[in-house]
Amino acid sequence: MKATRFIPTAAYINGKFIDDRPTFDVVNPATGEVISSVPDLGVSDCKQAIQDAHAAWEDWRNADAATRCGIVRRWYELMIRTKEELAHVMTLESGKPLHESLAEVDYGASFVEWFAEEAKRAYGETIPSPAGGQRLVTIRQPIGVIAAITPWNFPLAMVTRKVAPALACGCTVILRPASQTPLTALYVAKMAHEAGFPAGVFNVITGKDSSGMGAALATSEIVRKISFTGSTEVGRRLMELAAGTIKKVSLELGGNAPFLVFDDADIDAAVKGAIAGKFRNSGQTCVSINRFYVQNTVFDRFAEKLTHAVRKLKVGNGLDPGVEVGPLISDEGIEKVRKHIRDAIDKGAKLLTGGKVINGRFFQPTVLADVPSTSLVARQETFGPLCALFRFETEAEAIAAANDTEFGLAAYLYSNDVNRCWRVSEQLEAGMIGINTGLLSNAAAPFGGIKQSGIGREGSKHGLDEYMEWKYLCFGG
Ligand code: NAP
Repeated sequence: MKATRFIPTAAYINGKFIDDRPTFDVVNPATGEVISSVPDLGVSDCKQAIQDAHAAWEDWRNADAATRCGIVRRWYELMIRTKEELAHVMTLESGKPLHESLAEVDYGASFVEWFAEEAKRAYGETIPSPAGGQRLVTIRQPIGVIAAITPWNFPLAMVTRKVAPALACGCTVILRPASQTPLTALYVAKMAHEAGFPAGVFNVITGKDSSGMGAALATSEIVRKISFTGSTEVGRRLMELAAGTIKKVSLELGGNAPFLVFDDADIDAAVKGAIAGKFRNSGQTCVSINRFYVQNTVFDRFAEKLTHAVRKLKVGNGLDPGVEVGPLISDEGIEKVRKHIRDAIDKGAKLLTGGKVINGRFFQPTVLADVPSTSLVARQETFGPLCALFRFETEAEAIAAANDTEFGLAAYLYSNDVNRCWRVSEQLEAGMIGINTGLLSNAAAPFGGIKQSGIGREGSKHGLDEYMEWKYLCFGG
């Protein structure tokens, strides 16, 4: 691994790096050390960025697709070329194991590559006319100035899934990354500058005043769309604010993913999928498994094998070799895991392994069995390394329990009966279903939720639609 040479310190507005303002610290959650200090911008800077993005839009929307997509493609190539350094910065600020950060650079950059191609194919339609003497056509056009607000758990991928389609199709963007992890976003802003985006096309604003800047973006007459990834609570607030100007919104919100293990499943494969789907980023992912529903007849076997695998996970600083589970991002995150464990045990759950803080922000990977359905973990997203195992008898019971949540992002099931896989997948209330797999996201597939997990899709050909309007042209005469 090469030593990191560049640690960002500057925001990026209208093609300029801004580093002459008061700052706030970015802290490594594994060590508590300050990694960098970045500008603590406020609402007036945010409004300036909106003006700059607006001014840049006219030329950018009219640039030909080959020019726009060529710059986006160069941005992708710079990310891949700088992969190791970028991953290092990501691990420093988020705590995730280095191998996960390297994988996230590939994953995050893959959206940039995908949309550099996809935007070339933003085709319209010709429509057979129902009336004589008319010719009907649709064209697709970029929406305009886009505001993107992203969380800390995937400091690159959550950014690129929004920004790449928006830029590639001709929108201009103001990105506000999470205060805990702004460095990866600022790093790729530097690469965007090098790739050749014109001034004002892509802007990254950092600052602690999340609600002030969020409100400025969501209520602006100029901003035509807000794309948010984060908690359902904040998403709801932004949607309310965006209603004032009838803005288009995309929301990628919280989840409470169920993982169903049927008695005809390959139990070893299910355990492997469970580890992959639960412990990535220490359980701090929106598609992380929150509730394991295991059929009674295989419950003990699954619980035993899962516990065995969980005990072997290596916890530590993400930069240390072989580490599989890093720290949690905050003390509040630790407290929530502790609370969910205490609550479940008080209500009758059995602790099979883990259950305690190791030190600082590191928490033991934990398995609880026979968790009652009245537990907090059944209702709330834990966002930590806790496997909560619930028993079920029948398929109908499992489906009802899995759907008993206001969330609907991801769901998983393990079964070797193809009829059951179809039947259950069709009945699960979630935007994405993993069938005999614990990992399901990639640039080619539409990522997104239903119910209170969100609106809209990121990735795939549908990811471009989120940043484009259909315009209908009716030729008479
Ligand atoms: P969060 O508190 O909602 O924060 C997300 C982003 O919103 C951060 O940039 C944050 O800024 C900003 N923010 C906070 N309050 C705001 C406000 N009033 N107005 C405007 N912006 C505001 O969520 P989080 O705890 O960081 O992230 C975890 C959540 O994100 C989980 O629920 C997870 O499931 C969800 N998530 C969903 C997806 C998905 O694709 N569905 C993907 C990843 C994560 P600061 O950092 O400055 O507070």
